[in-house]
Amino acid sequence: MRQKRAKAYKRVMALYVGTFGFRTPYQVLLGDDFLLEAAKQKDVDWWKMLGTTVQGEVKPMITQCCIEALYRKGKEFQHVVDMAKRAERRKCNHREAVDPADCLKDMVGDTNKHRYVLAVQSQPLIIKLATTPGLPVMHYNARGVLVLSPPSTATVRAKNAAEEERRAEGVKMLDGVKDGTNVVGAGSGAGGSQGQGRRKVKGPNPLSMKKKKGGEEGRKRKAQEDEVEVEAEAEVEVEDEGRRKKKRKRGRGKGAVATAIAEINAAGGIGLGGDGGGGGGEGEESASD
Ligand SMILES: [Zn+2]
Repeated sequence: MRQKRAKAYKRVMALYVGTFGFRTPYQVLLGDDFLLEAAKQKDVDWWKMLGTTVQGEVKPMITQCCIEALYRKGKEFQHVVDMAKRAERRKCNHREAVDPADCLKDMVGDTNKHRYVLAVQSQPLIIKLATTPGLPVMHYNARGVLVLSPPSTATVRAKNAAEEERRAEGVKMLDGVKDGTNVVGAGSGAGGSQGQGRRKVKGPNPLSMKKKKGGEEGRKRKAQEDEVEVEAEAEVEVEDEGRRKKKRKRGRGKGAVATAIAEINAAGGIGLGGDGGGGGGEGEESASD
């Protein structure tokens, strides 16, 4: 896999790990159509490519309905059945085999709570499941290259919402800081008893935490994700969604970040005396441009 694509995929998977709790080995749910396509790729190790594509260890899985569909294709496709047999069997609780696409849709559900990575070819299924946030999808493109789709609109929205929530929590923490009592507690032992009660609830020193999130790190992450979308878009076929996403993203959140930073600086100046105010300043000025 090309270096650039590998990097882009790594960032895409980082999104699923960071926001949706994905962990390796990634559980890759194999569609029957995906295996039929994989069987055509003569000179590549399809099994190994699964892991290469998601940049991590994988646990390929197949449902009874999907393997059933392959059996039904007859002797000619025995080699594909054999491929499927390498994967762990996943119970789908369909007593009578249902259409593989319906089976996979049931497996993923509305939330993909088992954190599957879906490996399918069916475009209608991919489109149907685009409303489920936190569902990585891979498929073979027209040139027979295994590709990881850019995150769906639903996924990006869920991620933004989670970020927004974290940001709001940060602002709440700063509100607590502003009244001063607990800041005194943070800096010195004197007068700490009043503030400590509050700090226990809020967690670690809110000043140091928020500075990282709102400042450099947050913006760097944001910038990286923008990059991912640009790169992934070029690679992948389900690309029009990615384009819409990108537009929506522009110009969002910067105001909130800048406000948070200003508040941090103000609070830092009061609370931490000499060391806080100046140190936080670097790099943040540019957020206002
Ligand atoms: Zn099933």
